[in-house]
Amino acid sequence: MNTQEIKTLNTEHILNTYGDRRLALVRGEGARVWDAEGREYLDFFAGIAVCNLGHCHPKVTEAICTQAKKLVHVSNLYYIEPQVKLAEKLSRHCFADKWFFCNGGAEANEAAIKLARRYWTMIGANKPEIVVAEHSFHGRTLGALSATGQPKYHYGFDPLVPGFHYVPYDDLKALDAAITPQVGLVILEPIQGEGGVRVPSPGYLPGVRRLCSDKNVLLAFDEVQTGLGRTGTLFAYAHENVIPDIITLAKGLGNGVPIGAMGCTEKLSEGFSPGAHACTFGGNPLSAAAALATFEVLTEPGLVEKSAEMGAYFIRQLVDLSLEHKSILEVRGRGLMIGIEFDREVAPLVAAMHDAGILCGIAGPRVLRFLPPLIIDSTAVDCVIAALEASLEALQW
Ligand SMILES: *Cc1c(COP(=O)(O)O)cnc(C)c1O
Repeated sequence: MNTQEIKTLNTEHILNTYGDRRLALVRGEGARVWDAEGREYLDFFAGIAVCNLGHCHPKVTEAICTQAKKLVHVSNLYYIEPQVKLAEKLSRHCFADKWFFCNGGAEANEAAIKLARRYWTMIGANKPEIVVAEHSFHGRTLGALSATGQPKYHYGFDPLVPGFHYVPYDDLKALDAAITPQVGLVILEPIQGEGGVRVPSPGYLPGVRRLCSDKNVLLAFDEVQTGLGRTGTLFAYAHENVIPDIITLAKGLGNGVPIGAMGCTEKLSEGFSPGAHACTFGGNPLSAAAALATFEVLTEPGLVEKSAEMGAYFIRQLVDLSLEHKSILEVRGRGLMIGIEFDREVAPLVAAMHDAGILCGIAGPRVLRFLPPLIIDSTAVDCVIAALEASLEALQW
């Protein structure tokens, strides 16, 4: 099918939650993808921070094919070998002792919310309330949506799940004031993604940890986007060595095969007893095998370190570019999670970049966003910088 045929069928049969798009992509390899007409693009968005190892990484593809021939699904009524291997491997590299697997980011956050509430219930405390940040993004199911501090996502979906309080991000005083005795959980992204690629001030996350510990509140980091090497360390909590009680993962976990995870400390694990929570597909043989292979490649020596260097190189070049273009207000990010705030809406720039053969995206109307695969090299970065420079010139920004 060509792009127009795909688009026509889409308009007829798919609910219009995603709006009009320009491209239909049909093939990928590493940092490159091809559309239905065979045109090649450099993918600097990686399926929204998902294909961290690049498209169709040979080791992940091989793991998927091998597992698909052996066993795809059995449900959690039975023990699942790839799932337990994945959990063991994650625990070796992450603070979390115990894991619950699901299908994506919103479900992982639902599991975190349910675990915290039930943990306090099980130990006889009344602490069901939850503090979250403004501009946060935690997913689209009703619980995760209620945790999301962006009114535009709430419109028309009232009543939301009760018990959530919103505070400004990167503001310890506001957080302190919001933590009443009924609050049992704080959920934060270590760097806010969808809300505009907002990097908190140094000392904020350690301050949050101290507040939560002093006030007997659980701390969950939503690392659905920041996790799995995206910010230049395997998990973003490692930058300032702030250990939360709960972590949620998804996007990059299966390099494109849907899987999410919620990890917690041993102490918290008593919150969930048999029957408390479940997920039919959670950690099934196929998705767990893909995630296991992904994590094995991701933890090979040097891969994440090199991506951190690429990120620093990319950000330096963007800062240089910003000196010549007054339309750029700020370049922010860490590792290969990068946002560029403009003084105007960036949709025309994204379109110009697509025309130049570069895939990128937005984080709010005025923030251009790059989330390339972690395997990119400096040639790819130079290519994107050149395209960005040419697009800015062409738009006269
Ligand atoms: C994408 C994202 C989610 C939601 O993940 P889904 O898999 O779309 O449900 C949650 N939290 C953060 C930080 C995200 O970036």
